[in-house]
Amino acid sequence: MANLKSENNKAVLYARVSTEEQASRDNSIPAQIKAIKQFALKNGIEIIKEYVDEGKSARTADRPQFQQMISDAKKNDKIFSKILIHKTDRFARNRSDSVIYKSLLQKECHVEVISITEIFDDSPTGKLLEGMMEVIAEFHSLNLAQEVMKGMKQKAGKGLYLGRTPYGYTLDETTKKLIIDEEESKVVKIIFEMYSNGDSFATIKSHLNTAGIFTRENKAWDSSSIKRIIKNPAYIGQFTWNKTKRSTNSKKDSTEWVIVENSHDPIISHELFYKTQNVIKSKHTIRGKGVKSIYLLSSMLKCGHCGHNMIGEKKKHVSGKVYIRYVCGNYLSHKLCFYNFVHKDAIESLVFNNIREILNTGKVDTNNVVLVESKTSDAEKDLLETSLKNIKHKFEKQLEAFEAGVIDLEELQTAKKRVFLEESEVKHQLEQLEKKSQNKNIDKNLKSHLTGIDEILLLNDPANIKLWLKDRIYSIEVFNKSEVLIKYRLPVE
Ligand SMILES: [Zn+2]
Repeated sequence: MANLKSENNKAVLYARVSTEEQASRDNSIPAQIKAIKQFALKNGIEIIKEYVDEGKSARTADRPQFQQMISDAKKNDKIFSKILIHKTDRFARNRSDSVIYKSLLQKECHVEVISITEIFDDSPTGKLLEGMMEVIAEFHSLNLAQEVMKGMKQKAGKGLYLGRTPYGYTLDETTKKLIIDEEESKVVKIIFEMYSNGDSFATIKSHLNTAGIFTRENKAWDSSSIKRIIKNPAYIGQFTWNKTKRSTNSKKDSTEWVIVENSHDPIISHELFYKTQNVIKSKHTIRGKGVKSIYLLSSMLKCGHCGHNMIGEKKKHVSGKVYIRYVCGNYLSHKLCFYNFVHKDAIESLVFNNIREILNTGKVDTNNVVLVESKTSDAEKDLLETSLKNIKHKFEKQLEAFEAGVIDLEELQTAKKRVFLEESEVKHQLEQLEKKSQNKNIDKNLKSHLTGIDEILLLNDPANIKLWLKDRIYSIEVFNKSEVLIKYRLPVE
């Protein structure tokens, strides 16, 4: 056993429990403390102080007792030479943190960290085992979130329903599966059919309320309860979980969603459900939030004078005539430019006609084409950007260690220099990538890239048209109403 019997046998203990773990008995603070004390007794170690962080995640840098312990360890007149912990994962959130803290505590403060359930000797095997335990602890912490999702997926895949039982179903308490409720499911069908046939929420609401049909809480229907039903994919037998952030009600990244098809019997057919979703979308684009997407060129239009995005503006003249324009956003929000504007209809048809002209003549000024990276160099770029992030992350770790008092300013400076060198190398590679490759058949390729404009316009779906345009137009610079420069986006071959 390494160093268990050094001259100074005074130690402190550190225990931590995360909010999620608080319920589990094995990991509880008293259990950790008890095990550590037994170990100390057995090995003739005296514990002189306890540091406990309760309800703190290993991922949070803010662990007050941990930081207190580190600063106590740095004191010249400290009277302990060991820190006892239950397991490596109590101490730091990942391997690099653990290594940083451990080696610096050893080197700077002559304090040894002992994990009582993972004792290793100083032999190469012991070192290797210790390293492995740290890797495992890190792996576990990284995987926890994924494991939770996997568990949810498995349960939902077996048809077990998790969460609030949707109207139209009842939950079988023994099997935990959703069963169709005959009466309620009829109401669900009525709601979907009425809405997809063009009835408004208000009409559906009053129809149900006059018929004496009430919600599960025995309340009158309102628009939002009807909308919730119409948007819920549970009615086509789909289980979805983790799609929105509860705090803000905004959508999470799609990689975090759990979606399981056929998790229970559907009430509504796929056709009816998607038809209804399209009705919601089309109503949205006409009024409410969707209005912005009517400005088909916003985010592509740039003020030629200041480079700022131009923003849609609707104004009613005293005569009663309505003007819809794109105006320099820099002027609108900060009054920093001037009232540089174009009429919405004029600029949009100018752009469409320019596209049609390229299609007809097959000719384009190469100065007006911006080559963008293909999918493969996209991946390469992603990789470089990730490593750029990682470099920054590494430095943040050093900064944390500095703030916790584990490393000194000099060490932080060294780290900073190293990070700077690594960072400039990656940035250089990124620049090279952007310069790389040329597109030889610009005319031909741009023509095929722009084919289909009239089919898209025919769809009359502003959101889709806008997506199509954004994919093909890099920028439209507006110098004044008649002087416009359109730059097209073309994938590099
Ligand atoms: Zn401007």
